Amino acid sequence: MLDSTPPRPTYSPITLRDFASIPQIAALPADIRLQLSAVARVLPFRVNRYVLDELIDWGRVPDDPIYQLTFPQPGMLDDAEVQVVADLLRAEAPGGEIEAAVRRIQRGLNPHPAGQITLNVPTLDGRALRGMQHKYRETVLFFPAQGQTCHAYCTYCFRWPQFVGLDDLKFAARESEQLVEYLRRHPDVTDVLITGGDPLVMRTAALRRTIEPLLAARLPGLTTIRIGTKALAYWPYRFTTDADADDLLRLFEEVAERGMHLALMAHSSHPRELETPAAITAIRRVRSTGAVIRCQAPLIRRVNDDPQVWAELWRAQVRLGAVPYYMFVERDTGPKEYFKVPLARAVAIFGDAQRQVSGLCRTARGPSMSAMPGKVVVDGVVESGGRLCFSLRMLQGRDPAWVGRTFLAEYDERAAWLDELRPAGDEPEFFYQRVLRETQRR
Ligand SMILES: *Cc1c(COP(=O)(O)O)cnc(C)c1O
Ligand code: SF4
Repeated sequence: MLDSTPPRPTYSPITLRDFASIPQIAALPADIRLQLSAVARVLPFRVNRYVLDELIDWGRVPDDPIYQLTFPQPGMLDDAEVQVVADLLRAEAPGGEIEAAVRRIQRGLNPHPAGQITLNVPTLDGRALRGMQHKYRETVLFFPAQGQTCHAYCTYCFRWPQFVGLDDLKFAARESEQLVEYLRRHPDVTDVLITGGDPLVMRTAALRRTIEPLLAARLPGLTTIRIGTKALAYWPYRFTTDADADDLLRLFEEVAERGMHLALMAHSSHPRELETPAAITAIRRVRSTGAVIRCQAPLIRRVNDDPQVWAELWRAQVRLGAVPYYMFVERDTGPKEYFKVPLARAVAIFGDAQRQVSGLCRTARGPSMSAMPGKVVVDGVVESGGRLCFSLRMLQGRDPAWVGRTFLAEYDERAAWLDELRPAGDEPEFFYQRVLRETQRR
């Protein structure tokens, strides 16, 4: 008798150990394979069969956007650095020697931009809550210990230091009791953002141990549980055929039944991620629980630095019932030079894409920098006092009073981050800089 049930895809990561034996990589000339292996030692690498077979168009490699998104490329590091590691690999040098060279290169890649580690860590009775961050009044970030990897790794990820073992999972929080207690004492917090890594690498039972206490506590201020994830793109079976997929959807429903909102903050980089039958089914199932999918991604050269791609991405999101939310500017870390899109170009791409779509797609905001003082969006290029300026606006502020403030910076064709900008006119510094200096001194 024929079995009519299709096989259930099982998740098994393909990691650095398997890199050289991926058929498409094994088929490359030896010197190129060695170079790629060298970069894969320095930057995090992980894919799975779904990414290899359903997302990457191997006929377009190396230019294929999903290949660029997930596979190490020689241009991501300095040629000389790649050569050092490649030479050690070719000579089959002792593991410790390779490791030392790799660590030295990693430390040179600005692993901790924007004071992520030292700032924003909340305290409870004088104790630092290591697995949490609280930067903006309304939203607390929670990093569950088991959710600190992903179903595949993005080569540009700003969490890369934790994936290569440089950070030793400093963020990891085990208990949600502390989170509940912290929220009790901070009734201004309306949103908890469970994030990673990707918290949906956790089994549903583990995720329940984070979410159920939040529901049971009946915190009067809490309205929204957000889950930051790329599972819709990298492993949509998490919502469809995985053994605990149904239980995950049930958990989402329970949030709604408590009168709260579950927002799935989907990292959505390219329209191709939304085209597969598995992804489309996953989105339909998530929406059926009452959860809302909000989509965000950084603007990345070689992956999505094209207004047509963003217009198509937003249209696909809206067609599937998801909400475009943020376009981010890539942070200054890791292989930033390889992926960098200058602000002038970013704001042009954003505007061009917005002009091609309907108002329902224009719920996306950006290009936005998650910088030290807050989320700063580049609204456009204007003329002031006969000079070109960037018009900037604070979407989120370390000080809530800063939210919505507009300010001008001198136009600079090459600048790619807030700290490369100068105030327009005679201002010696931006309005937030004095306060920030004092915060850092403390
Ligand atoms: C982006 C971000 C948030 C959420 O901001 P929203 O504008 O409400 O989506 C919260 N905390 C940190 C640290 C962030 O970077
Ligand atoms: S899915 Fe998110 S956390 Fe995971 S590697 Fe990509 S950017 Fe980083």
